[in-house]
Formats: sequence, structure tokens, C-alpha cells
Amino acid sequence: MSTPEPLVLPETDAAEAWVKERTSQTLTHVRELAERLRTAPPSQALEVLKAWDQLSLELGSLGGLAGLLANVHPFEAVRTACEDTEIEVDRLRTELTQDQALYRVFADLPDDQTAALDPLAARLLEKTLQDFTRAGVDRDDATRARLTEINERLTELNLEFSRVTRDDVRITTATPEQLDGMPADWLEAHPVNDKGLVEITTDYPDALPARMFVKDPAIRRAVTVAGLERGWPHNDAVLKEMFALRHELADLVGYEDWPAFDAAVKMIGEGPAIPEFIDRIAAAAEGRMKRDLEVLLDRYDRDVPGASAVSAADALYYEELVRQEKYDVDSQVVRTYFDFAKVHQGLLDVTGRLFGLRYEPVSDVVTWHEDVSVFDVYPSGDGERLGRIYLDLHPREGKYKHAAQFDLATGVKGRQLPEGVLVCNFSRGLMEHDHVVTLFHEFGHLIHHVLGGQGEWARFSGVATEWDFVEAPSQMLEEWAWDAEVLQTFATNEAGEPIPADLVARMRAADDFGKGYHARQQMFYAAISYWFHKEQPEDLTKRLQELQAAYSPYPYLDGTHFFANFGHLGGYSSAYYTYMWSLVIAKDLFSAFDRDDLFAPEIAGRYRDLVLARGGEKDAADLVADFLGRPYSFDAYAAWLVS
Ligand SMILES: [Zn+2]
Repeated sequence: MSTPEPLVLPETDAAEAWVKERTSQTLTHVRELAERLRTAPPSQALEVLKAWDQLSLELGSLGGLAGLLANVHPFEAVRTACEDTEIEVDRLRTELTQDQALYRVFADLPDDQTAALDPLAARLLEKTLQDFTRAGVDRDDATRARLTEINERLTELNLEFSRVTRDDVRITTATPEQLDGMPADWLEAHPVNDKGLVEITTDYPDALPARMFVKDPAIRRAVTVAGLERGWPHNDAVLKEMFALRHELADLVGYEDWPAFDAAVKMIGEGPAIPEFIDRIAAAAEGRMKRDLEVLLDRYDRDVPGASAVSAADALYYEELVRQEKYDVDSQVVRTYFDFAKVHQGLLDVTGRLFGLRYEPVSDVVTWHEDVSVFDVYPSGDGERLGRIYLDLHPREGKYKHAAQFDLATGVKGRQLPEGVLVCNFSRGLMEHDHVVTLFHEFGHLIHHVLGGQGEWARFSGVATEWDFVEAPSQMLEEWAWDAEVLQTFATNEAGEPIPADLVARMRAADDFGKGYHARQQMFYAAISYWFHKEQPEDLTKRLQELQAAYSPYPYLDGTHFFANFGHLGGYSSAYYTYMWSLVIAKDLFSAFDRDDLFAPEIAGRYRDLVLARGGEKDAADLVADFLGRPYSFDAYAAWLVS
């Protein structure tokens, strides 16, 4: 079987026409495939499944491509065309999963045939039938029409929510004197404007260092508030409509509420298990949070006498001070070891060694921007090309503001090469260590997409596991960016000296310092995500304040509306708990590795083959159990939290 060729992307100027043509061709073909399946289905169950999987592959790949370019293409017209494509893909997907004639093709397959399916095909049939019933295929005409309407509107609202959040960049201005404390290279890259002021945008490379380093509390507050205000007030109404429609959808297909509908296809299983999990983590983190907050408040009190709590606008700055003073970690020294180019190469070397891969640079391909670098992925020994990866790692106007992996092509053995893209916003010079960790994290998704893209079914390709598991492999890969021996292979300063092991040890201790209140802050976010969907509060700001008081280590900042730019309310909906749930699993997975030799090939190979390469071929709990040799547990996480 020959390996498929990678996708050929259009030149920037030709992209708009290319996207439109590809969209119309693919949608037409998918409709033809559906029509054939509906009116003249193959006589064998396995062939029926294959036809459906081909259709899913084409539709999913178009959606992936459009989702990527909508977020990275330099031309607004292309981004808009891609958003239209995403809407059409979602519309057709909904239409197909509500198609009763299609559903009957699967539901009426004879028992003797379905009983003869191999386990993977049987799993595919089960998941396919579940997709249909969750879409409401067995409901009456009026209900299905309403579901179609709801889905269309939800797609639009999701796009609107992320577009507003992405494009609402706010600017704080400061005199050079007010920026005392900022790193020299940052100041150099930010000259004063014609009014003699420096502009600090709400984009990460500006806002994060400003909140960490600027000595002037008024500037820190202004930058923090600007960040929390993105999307406000526009997104308030967008979100309320979104929550109401999600609830209605869940109700129409027979679930109590949106969280119950959403959790039914996750590792967590049931809606009420979400607040139980949130409270379990919040309780486990309580002692640790109090201890660390006292230390923070002690230091805060020297500058803000009589303060009873650390302000959210000052938290990063004082955390940074405590790190310097208590743990002797100066981020400005740390970052001299993380030159972007070296980190980039280090990432490829480390993950290549760990997973037995080799990355070959590809220079003769068209991408959407000159910043993008492209590599083909091969096994480190002999073997065919496994996939292609694109790294788009620096900020620019109109580009996605966070860090994420996007699917460009879904991998299926012999049919389509897996291709994935990292979209991040890192500096071109020196990086914060946090960003190095983020890079390893996102690369974890990318490699999961490629390694899991070698199977026979599109439905189970790549990161196709339960959504509350998908972060676990990435969170585990972060450990490699915290290991001194690993870091020393690439983290060297200008003089070529590797980062000292004792500095890494202090960085770890400093990072551990905030883990109790970090867990609580995460549970605050998880509680917003769950309760906003469960209750659909009339006054989102008021409910946010209550949840902040219950879970967050920091008091509410007056007049702010964080939910209006809490992007995960779009994609993760009620399941933001996912990050912490995955971390629990990640700590458990990592417990199997040898701390003295993180590259030990036998363990890394088993992990690659039993977890990553399987994609969604088994339930995540089973993948984890296959690797660990026992069911997953909370023990490793709980031990880490109190250690
Ligand atoms: Zn992630």
C-alpha cells in the first residue's frame, strides 16, 4: 500500500477561490456519497461502514482545513470564506445525522452481519448509531426541523463569540517611566508612538510580561482589566443565547440538560459528576492554596499595607516576586536560556527521540504565511512517511490569539496522510519558560494527531478519544519541559552555557509554589463553564462573582466581565473541568515513566503504541489501563498536589 501524498495548499492570492471551489466540490461529493448510501446501500455491513467512513473523512477534512485557515490566513476574505465553509460543513453534518433513511441503513443491518463484524467495526457501528440518536434522528419532523435551526444558530454564535474575542484587541498606553521593570528586549521591540507613549496590547506577548514585570500597579491593573474586558458587552447576549439553545437541544433529544448531554460521551459519563469532581479537587487543593496564599499575602502586605487579599491584577507580579525572593528564580535570567530557535530545534530533538521519530524539513511547499515551517514525520528507523506538520508560531494581525493544534487532514492508512498545525503566539527572541511548556503541550496534540492517524477508520483517527481525555497526553509531555537533563540538551544562553540543574530545581519549586491556588482558579473556570450551562443565569456577571467567591483564590475585580472572553465557553461548553480531569490522568500516566531516564525506550514505545497510536479505537479508560496495567486512579495527582 503506497502512502498518500500530502495536501497542496494554494498561494495566498489564490486561496479565496481555492477554498470556495474545494468547498463546493467536497460538499457535492459528500452529498453524492450519502445519496448512494441512502438509496442503494452495499449489501454487506462492513461495506456500509466503509462508505460512511469515507463520507466522514471528506467532510471532516474540509471542516479541519476551513477551521485552520479561518484562524490563520492573512486575508480577511479567506478567513470569512472559511467561516462560511465551517457553517456549511456543520449544516450538512447535522442534516446527515438527522436523515432517517440513512439512519435506517445502519439500524436495519441484519444481526448475523453485525455480529460478524470485527471489534473495531462493531465499535464504529455503535458510535455511528449513537451519533444519529444524539442528533435526534428518531424524533418527529417538527423537532428535527427545530434541531436543525438550533444547530445552525449555534454554529453562527460560536463563530461570532470567537471572532469578537479574537478581534477585540485593547490597548493600554504607558510612558516609558511607567514601564520600569519590563525586560530590555521587550522595551526595545516596543518603541514609543508619536505621543511619546508605549502601547501594550491585550495579546499574550504584551500582556503577560506586563502583568508579571511592570512595577507600577496602575499599569498592571489597566492591562489586566483590559484583558478581562475583551468581548464585553457584545458577547453577553451571544453567550446567553448560546446557553439557552444548548439547553433546548439537549432537552429535545432526551437529556435533562446540556451538561448531561455533553457528559454522556465523555470519560466522566454524567452531568452531576462534574460539580462533584470540581468540589473534590477544590477540597483537595484547599490546604495547599491557603498555605501559598499566605506567603503571597505576606509579601503583598509590604507594598499594600493592611490588604486582606491579593488582587487578581497583582497576582502574577507578586508570584514573580516571591519566585525571585523565596526561590531565587528570576524569570528574566531564566528566559536568557530559552532562545526561540534553540527551543524549536530542541522540541523536535526531544520528541523525536522520545517517540522514535525523525522530522525532515520541507521547504518547497506553499503555506499561508512566510512564518510557517513545515516538516515531514518519519519513523526514526526505516519506514514510510507518517505525516506532515506545520508550525505557525509567532503573532500577527488577524491571527488566532491563543495556542492550539489544528487538524489540516485526518489520517487514514492508505487513504489520507495525517497533517496537523501548531498555531501559537511566541516571541521571536527569548521566551518565557511558561511558553516553552505551552509549546511542548501543544506539540503533544500534534503528535497524537499524526501517530493516531495511521488506523483504518477516520472516525477513530488522531485525537479522537473522549474530549476529557484529549489533554492528558499533552499535559504529560509538559513534564519533559520541566526536566533538567532534557532542558540542558537545548536550553543554552548566549555564551552557550546550558541551564543549570539547580536553577531548574528552583524553577520547579517555584512552580509548585502556586499549584494549590492554581487548581482553585481552574475550578473557578470549570464552575463557570458548568453552572452557566446548567442554570443559564439571568445575570452572568452576578453569577460569576458568586463562583469567584466560592472557588477563586482572588477577589472579583470590580467592573470586569471575564466570561465575555472566556473562549472555552464556545468549544468546551460545560466541560472546562476537562483540563483538570486530564491532568489527573496525565499524572497517573507519567507515574509509569522512569524519572531517572525519561527517554527509556521500552516505556515510551509502549505509551506511543498503546495510547497515542490507538486514537479513538478504544475508550480512553481502556487505553490508559492497557498502558498502566491497571485502571486509572486519582492517587498520583493527589500525591503531587500535597507534595
Ligand atoms: Zn491542550
